[in-house]
Amino acid sequence: MEARVLHADIAAETAALLRNFGLESQTFESGSLTTRSPITGETIARVETANSGMVQQTIARAEDAFRVWRNIPAPRRGEFVRLLGEELRAAKAELARLVTIEAGKITTEGLGEVQEMIDICDFAVGLSRQLHGLTIATERHCHRMMETWHPLGVTGVITSFNFPVAVWAWNAALALVCGDAVVWKPSEKTPLVALATQALVERAAARFGDAPEGLSNLLVGGRDLGEALVEDARVQLVSATGSTAMGRAIAPRLAQRFARSILELGGNNAAVVCASAPLDLTVRAIAFAAMGTAGQRCTTLRRLIVHEDVYDDLLARLRQAYASISVGDPRDGASLVGPLIDRDAYTAMCAALDEVRKAGGVILGGDRVLAEKYPDAFYVRPALAEMPNQTEVVRRETFAPILYVMKFRSLDEAIRLNNDVAHGLASAIFTARLDEAERFMAADGSDCGIVNVNIGPSGAEIGGAFGGEKDTGGGREAGSDCWKAYMRRATNTINYSGELPLAQGVKFDLET
Ligand code: NAD
Repeated sequence: MEARVLHADIAAETAALLRNFGLESQTFESGSLTTRSPITGETIARVETANSGMVQQTIARAEDAFRVWRNIPAPRRGEFVRLLGEELRAAKAELARLVTIEAGKITTEGLGEVQEMIDICDFAVGLSRQLHGLTIATERHCHRMMETWHPLGVTGVITSFNFPVAVWAWNAALALVCGDAVVWKPSEKTPLVALATQALVERAAARFGDAPEGLSNLLVGGRDLGEALVEDARVQLVSATGSTAMGRAIAPRLAQRFARSILELGGNNAAVVCASAPLDLTVRAIAFAAMGTAGQRCTTLRRLIVHEDVYDDLLARLRQAYASISVGDPRDGASLVGPLIDRDAYTAMCAALDEVRKAGGVILGGDRVLAEKYPDAFYVRPALAEMPNQTEVVRRETFAPILYVMKFRSLDEAIRLNNDVAHGLASAIFTARLDEAERFMAADGSDCGIVNVNIGPSGAEIGGAFGGEKDTGGGREAGSDCWKAYMRRATNTINYSGELPLAQGVKFDLET
């Protein structure tokens, strides 16, 4: 299908959107950090970055805000997040448009990103009345033992370019109802959506009335600002989303000062297609998971492990899907695949495809399109790479739309391939057989944090805990009981017996 192009002045539209969010022109016209739209590769803004003095001040303000916020009743804290959700609902279309312009997501994915922010706000509002501890049976007469969950402190949130605002919301909505203050260091590739989101936070704060100043803060800039959060003993928890290299750099430094961390790192996600798989559904699921967001999701499907009995049939259908996918301007409703984020991403994709060829793989797609029209933007046709086996390049995360395909005979072999990579984020099995589905989800099945049946590995709902094992970092965010990471637990034992029985029957009789 033809690659598609729209013509519009992106820089002018960006400026108009930012002004609608209440930002002054000088905030985005004259700073030292240049922002480009991956749609055309053109410069759309120049934003100010924070210096080390501003980082110190911001953390100090956040610490002061925390001291106030921790004593506000949790349901009242939930009201703040409810108002933030309202602001996000009201600004959904504009913020989604900025996501499209700055991160290159197609329109529905930009809207989906903001919807995810709204969903987590709704979740957090309910949660603000359910931050509960257990009451536990004690071994002592007339005693009671219980757990209390208290606010933790200042939470640092470091985010990646590919979910430039949703990941912040997953963290911030929970941290705020849990009684923490937040300092956000967004990706240097997507500062504008962060500035717009911060403007919505400020609107919510104004409507709330007495939120302490410095409750939710933004630090725009490069990795040095992230490093400052990592190093600062006043930051109790750092939730960092990005590459495994980033996680490997910060994890020991956080451990050194016994800080809490939530690490949401790379993924190299597989799907197993069994002989009994419903192929229509399977092809549609694979197409979205492998090509959606131009292969730039942490949960993007990168490895397809197909039973030899259905290999030819499935591959024929996939080749058709890959040939017909529309690549182009993400603002055009007909485009399903937008641009890569930048030249580095394209270079990494080309290098991976070279390795595929050297390893004896056969590639469909993977070529650059629209290069003449937009020499500084990087649109690629998603690549389908049939591999002789799980070679080195397959076992690595390349953040681009490449789907490596391999054959299997037994489910044991498929599970071994699924698990034989460094990452452990998301996985899926397509099957009509209960025994295969259960085996894949069992203790000796997929070793990932997300294990799906007849659904692709990407596009998680916020109600579940999100995250993965091994080189994915082990962190969990969003739903289920993830809120506990943003609080500290106290175990309380209360003695109302009038005597002093010691645990484990210990005697310590003083002569008094
Ligand atoms: P990146 O690691 O280059 O940058 C992510 C963030 O970390 C940025 O804000 C960056 O400034 C900061 N950073 C980088 N090095 C740092 C350091 N040493 N100290 C402190 N901060 C540092 O990642 P990216 O290219 O923006 O995002 C793509 C990667 O993120 C992929 O690997 C993808 O799989 C992963 N990702 C994971 C999840 C998840 O939930 N598991 C979600 C989205 C993206």
